[in-house]
Amino acid sequence: MVALVLAYYAVLRSVLRAQPALRRCLTRCGHCGVFFLTDPRNAGRDDLRCPFGCRQAHRRRQSDRRSAAYYRDEAGQEKKRALNAQRRKTPARPSPPPPPVAELPPAWPRPMLPYLRMVTSLLEGRPISLAEVVAMLLRALRQHRMVRARRIDQTVAWLHEEPP
Ligand SMILES: [Zn+2]
Repeated sequence: MVALVLAYYAVLRSVLRAQPALRRCLTRCGHCGVFFLTDPRNAGRDDLRCPFGCRQAHRRRQSDRRSAAYYRDEAGQEKKRALNAQRRKTPARPSPPPPPVAELPPAWPRPMLPYLRMVTSLLEGRPISLAEVVAMLLRALRQHRMVRARRIDQTVAWLHEEPP
């Protein structure tokens, strides 16, 4: 986990060096204190939470609180009954095809994806879809594996030439 954070900060530093204009998007999580880049529209805010879990947790708490308060009163109860009745009547709409997230290794932190999408959109200056981010990641992972395999091949070849 520590290695992951260090690697992340190294990337963040090089991104900021390459694109000093993004420095104003640098923000610190109000919950855990980690640095991250935020959407330019949110630049300067100090009440933001990081996309590595704190934001999701906060949002879940908020929505739990909202729905609890909403259904507590009488009108809410009435509405809930109507909604449930309607839900039984309308068939589930077909959901849009999911991005190829399933192809990513299970160890890959899924909450990072929307964040990566935002950062790559900022870097490339165009809107990038989640599917594109996943495709980029898969490409990078493949490349990484290939480089590693080549390095091992070279080491094996070298050991053949110069046995220890
Ligand atoms: Zn956080």
